Amino acid sequence: MICTKCGKNQAEVLISGKYLCVHCARSEIVKRFRKELSLSKFLDREDKAVILATENFMDVANLIKKLLYNICKSCKLDVLIDKIDEEEDINKTLWKIMIKIRESDFKKIILPFTADFFLSYLIYSISIGYMGYLDLYSQFTELYSKKIFIPFYSTPRFELLGFSEITGELKTKDAFLNEIIKWASKQFADNEIYHTFGSSINVIRLENRKRCKICNAIIERGDCCKYCLESFSHLCSEQPQKQGLEEKA
Ligand SMILES: [Zn+2]
Ligand SMILES: [Zn+2]
Repeated sequence: MICTKCGKNQAEVLISGKYLCVHCARSEIVKRFRKELSLSKFLDREDKAVILATENFMDVANLIKKLLYNICKSCKLDVLIDKIDEEEDINKTLWKIMIKIRESDFKKIILPFTADFFLSYLIYSISIGYMGYLDLYSQFTELYSKKIFIPFYSTPRFELLGFSEITGELKTKDAFLNEIIKWASKQFADNEIYHTFGSSINVIRLENRKRCKICNAIIERGDCCKYCLESFSHLCSEQPQKQGLEEKA
């Protein structure tokens, strides 16, 4: 199949329903990235930002860093990548990222998560009945007076395959999440779903939920999530587990 944009090269990447060659695929993503970056007004011409990435997102993190430097060559940007060790429970991994954001000296944070990750995490969250950090499923959020930018929240990983940085398929250390990722990649081969899903996440109504006062996770009761209870119990009114039993006794 020939690229539908230039009509010359072999098409290899599916982007927004069109088969493109790697060259046109890259320019499409750069165009999208530049537009979203400028709309978000996330960075100033002279600015510092950190990309928080786990091992499995290091390739996307490196790509984001490269795109930022290339898009504004005359800007004075200082972009750092900070690697976070992944856990076997995706919510624990995301919790570590939230705590990192909370404690970071950086005012501008970039997360390298892609649309396919979020879609799978949404299904995961519904399956286990814990909404955790689902409201990261947006391009731009503010937390702890810090700005968080997620450039690829509506771009699935396979749309990035025109870049040599992107290696292999999405995988995490969470076995259940990996099952969902595999299933979703078969079910949602049509990538239009990824572009529409981010905006329809509002139907789940995440805004008026109870929140962990430390990491902002969506929780059912108490003032801390289970991970904060384990690590910061002195800051939470409830004590880990024991409390409930003692009250009954
Ligand atoms: Zn082309
Ligand atoms: Zn928490």
